[in-house]
Parts: sequence; C-alpha cells; structure tokens
Amino acid sequence: MTTTVSRDKYFYAFSADLAPVARVNRGEEIVLETHDCFQGQIISESDLVTTLDWNRTNPATGPVWIEGALPETVLRLTILDVQVEDHSVMVAIPGAGVLGDQINVPETTILRHDGDELVFKNKVRIRQAPMIGVIGLAPAHGSISNGVPGTHGGNMDCTLIGKGSRLYLTVQVEGGLLGLGDLHACMGDGEIVAVGAEVAGSVRLRPDIVPLQGLPTPFLENNEVVATICSDPDLDLAADGAIRNMSQFLMEFARLSLNDASMLMSAAGSLRICQVVDPAKTVRFEFPKQVLGQIGYQMPA
Ligand code: CA
Ligand code: ZN
Repeated sequence: MTTTVSRDKYFYAFSADLAPVARVNRGEEIVLETHDCFQGQIISESDLVTTLDWNRTNPATGPVWIEGALPETVLRLTILDVQVEDHSVMVAIPGAGVLGDQINVPETTILRHDGDELVFKNKVRIRQAPMIGVIGLAPAHGSISNGVPGTHGGNMDCTLIGKGSRLYLTVQVEGGLLGLGDLHACMGDGEIVAVGAEVAGSVRLRPDIVPLQGLPTPFLENNEVVATICSDPDLDLAADGAIRNMSQFLMEFARLSLNDASMLMSAAGSLRICQVVDPAKTVRFEFPKQVLGQIGYQMPA
C-alpha cells in the first residue's frame, strides 16, 4: 500500500507541535506532492519577487508520522523517485544571494522543460537533475523555519538528495514528523543566487529504521559515495563539521584509526559546498564507497 500526501498538507517550520497529516509504517512507500518554494505564487515572468507574500514561501509537505520511529533511532529515507512538473521558476533578487549587492533589477524567468532538459531564455539547455531542497524531521525543542538547515535536515539544498539516494536522519521526537519540499529541477553546488530551478513535483520514498545508532547525521548515501552533511552560519565551521563527522564515521563504523581516516579522506574524499545562501550554510564531505568497500565496510542493505 502506498500512502499519498497532497501538497495542500504543508507547514512552514519543523516542530514537534504539528499534528501529523499521515501515518506510515516502516518499509512502506509514501508519495509526497510538493509546491514549489514560492507556493505557486509565480505564474508568469511578470510576477516579480517584489510582489511575493514571503510568509507563503518554502512550504514542506507533511508532517508524516513514521510508526516505530523513536528518539535516537536512525531513520533512513530511500528516495525512490523525484518527479517534477513541466516548468521551473528562477529569480534574481536584489539583496539576495552572493551577488545580491550588485543585482539592482528583480527578474523572473520561467524555464520550460523539454525532455530531460530545461530551456533558459530559449538559448541555453541545461540537463535536469531533480533534487530535494528541504527535507527533515521535527527538532526535539522549539521550531525551525523551513528556510534553515541543521542537524534535523531542513533546507540543506544538497544536490545529492535525489532519486536513488538514501538520507539518514536521527529521530528527535516520536514518529519523526517528516516533511519535505523545495524541489529543484536542477541546481549548481552553492545555489549562489539563492534559488535553484524551483519546481512543483512529487517524491516517492521509503522510510526504514536502521541499526546505525550514533551515525553522524545528516548522512547521505548513493551508488558512488557516502557523505556527511553539516550546516552552520559560518562556512568554515560547516566545513569543519562535515570533515569531523566523516572522520567519526570512518573511525566508529569502518574501524579506521584517526591517521588512516585522515589520510584516506585527504587522498580520496572530497569536501564540497551544498549552499552558501541560507541562514546557515551547508557543506558535505564525500567519501567513495569503492574505498569503503576495500576497508571492509558496507552500509546495511
Ligand atoms: Ca532551498
Ligand atoms: Zn529552492
């Protein structure tokens, strides 16, 4: 049985106080339909961000209660599919993003989708690579706006979180209270103008509880790499956190010494930026599964 949650069931901040809109069992597939980050307010290129109701942006669909998700357990979200609609929205916003101090004229561009490509201003074609910008669980205390990334997940804007990847998050409140939204048909690492190709769509995923207590989360796995993800208002500290989390994983789970972990991370791992435009910045450290296999460690099936 697959549960579907429609995009009219949304919230703006992850919180334990929200009532779940659906309940699923571990191992049971769920489909979450999502608005784009503007909640559909931008329909044409004459809709500028200057007229946006910012209180209605970054909705996440959910929250979904996952049976058996208890605090401290590690929830694995296997992303089975990410479907996007037939066009995306991009904007340039004076004051927003890395170049915002130089951007004086607000602009909206609609990118139509043609097969597996996006068409930018009828000139440039970019390959689609659908990904999930916002995905997370409720924090133990208080509420965290969907715009902010952290240990609960949230607005990580990590290009690896797409079809075929597995995201690991530590449950903080019973049921987990999963939510997601802010799909991008594509996005470059950094997300420098503060948006990707913003798009409505749907995500099919399967939640499982895995015996990886103590895993430094958020943690991601795809066919090629495992990755630690860390967010902090200070980019240096985010990088530091992602590196330390990977070395912790390699020592505690793959049983490497600190020296071996450091040298192998330096030889074969890659520090990469997810985004530098949200209230906290996000960095990941990728380590090849091919090397992990030679060390004799495999992620649970
Ligand atoms: Ca985002
Ligand atoms: Zn976005």
